Amino acid sequence: MNDPIPNQNQLIETKLKNRTQIQTEILQICRHLHARNLLAAADGNLSYRMSDQEILITPTGVTKAFMTLEEVAVINLQGDIISGHPSSERLMHLEIFRRCPKAKAIIHAHPPTAIA
Ligand SMILES: [Zn+2]
Repeated sequence: MNDPIPNQNQLIETKLKNRTQIQTEILQICRHLHARNLLAAADGNLSYRMSDQEILITPTGVTKAFMTLEEVAVINLQGDIISGHPSSERLMHLEIFRRCPKAKAIIHAHPPTAIA
């Protein structure tokens, strides 16, 4: 008989899968932005709010087009670093997430034409 209520392992599996999917999308978006020359060198950063306790954010000092899934860092809304080396511009992301509870994702591009 099938148990309609997922057990703890299934819940953890679903959560990990979701995180991996979002990390993959972050990588894809970074590559698109880089291909369109909107992320020069290691500049620019992206973040995604899974929850207030789990915010995925691109790493500091890494060229986003060549970033790996494992390099995507995790922080929380209070600014604690859960894993990785989050972007040095994370405080700006956190401020936006705090002020806009509906905001799920932030893309901070660095088009050379805008910053030159
Ligand atoms: Zn910036």
